Amino acid sequence: MNAVLKSQPVQAIFDAAAARLGRVQGPRVSFEFFPPKSDKLEEQLWQVIRRLEPLGPAFVSVTYGAGGSTRDRTHRTVARIVEETTLKPAAHLTCVSATREEIDDVMRAYWDAGVRHIVALRGDPPAGAGAKYEPTPGGYAYAADLVEGARRVAAFEVSVAVYADLHPDSTDWQAEIDNFRRKIDAGATRGISNFFVDADSFLRLRDRFADAGITAPIVPGIMPVSNFNGFKRMAGAGGVYVPQWFADIFEGLDDDPETRLLVAAATTGELCARLAAEGVEDFHFYTLNRAELTLAICRMLGVKAPMAAQEEAVQ
Ligand SMILES: Cc1cc2nc3c(=O)[nH]c(=O)nc-3n(C[C@H](O)[C@H](O)[C@H](O)COP(=O)(O)OP(=O)(O)OC[C@H]3O[C@@H](n4cnc5c(N)ncnc54)[C@H](O)[C@@H]3O)c2cc1C
Repeated sequence: MNAVLKSQPVQAIFDAAAARLGRVQGPRVSFEFFPPKSDKLEEQLWQVIRRLEPLGPAFVSVTYGAGGSTRDRTHRTVARIVEETTLKPAAHLTCVSATREEIDDVMRAYWDAGVRHIVALRGDPPAGAGAKYEPTPGGYAYAADLVEGARRVAAFEVSVAVYADLHPDSTDWQAEIDNFRRKIDAGATRGISNFFVDADSFLRLRDRFADAGITAPIVPGIMPVSNFNGFKRMAGAGGVYVPQWFADIFEGLDDDPETRLLVAAATTGELCARLAAEGVEDFHFYTLNRAELTLAICRMLGVKAPMAAQEEAVQ
C-alpha cells in the first residue's frame, strides 16, 4: 500500500504511543469484567481472562452488582484472579444497601485475600439508575466517604468514577469537579471515566480538572459496542451523549453481528486514535466479558501479547 494512503487514525495511534511513551508496547491498558451468573458463563469468562492476560494489563477490575447483589460472586472472581493468574485485580464496591461495618468487613476480606486495589463507587439506587438516590442508614453515603473508609481499613490503592458527559445527579460541571476533588482528597489516586462516544467529552473533562488544579490522572473508559440496543440503554441511564451520526452507523445492524463487530472495531479504534493523539496514555476497557473487540483495539493501540503467549491463549 502506498504509505501516503495509510489510515490516518491508526497511524496516529502508533505515532502518539511511540512518541509520547517511548515504548514498543504502546500505552497502558486495564480491563473490566463482571462476575458471571452461572458455571457456563464462568467458564466463558475464564477463556476471556486467559486471552487478555498476556497483554499485560496494569490491572483488571470486577464489578459489583447493584445493591451488593453480586457480593459473593465478585469476591469469588477476584479471589480466583489473585490465586490463578499473574493479573492484579481491583474489586469494585458500592455504598448501596449495606452498613459501614458490613462494607468494612468485605474490604478486610479482600485485603486478607491479597487484593490491594478497590474501585470505590456510590452505586445506583436499588430501583435503578434514574431513581432518586438515598444513602443507606448507617452506611457510607457517597463514594468519597467510601474512599475514606477503604483507606482507613487498609493501604488500598483506590480508583473512583468520573463522568465525561456529567453524572445525571450533578447539577453542573462545578459539582463534578468538586466531587472528584473530594474523592482525591479522601485518598483516591485515579479517576476512571464512564464510557462516552465523543472524544471531545473526555478531553474537555480532562481540561476542566486540569484548570481546577486537579493533577490526579483520569483514564478513559472505553466501551466497544457489541450490542447497540444494550449500549443505548446504558447510555440513557447514565446520561451518556450518543450523537446521531453514531446511532446512524449502527442502525439496522441488530441482526447482523458480523458487520456490527467490524463497525464497532472501526469506531472504537478511531476514538482511541483520537485520544492517543491527544496524549492519553492509559485506556480502561469495559470488556463485557468478551475478548475479541478489546484484543483488536489494543492491537491498534500497539498493545499485543508476545507471539508464544498468543498461540497458547487461542488453544
Ligand atoms: C468506572 C465505573 C465503574 C462502575 N462500577 C460500578 C459497579 O461495579 N457497580 C455499580 O453498582 N455501579 C457501578 N458504576 C456506576 C456508579 O455506581 C453510578 O454511576 C452511580 O450513580 C454514581 O457513583 P459514583 O461513585 O460516581 O458516585 P459519587 O462520586 O458519590 O457521586 C454521585 C453523585 O452524587 C453527587 N454527590 C457526591 N457527594 C455528594 C454529597 N455529599 N451531597 C450531595 N451530592 C453528592 C455527585 O456530584 C454526583 O452527582 C460504575 C461507574 C463507573 C464510571
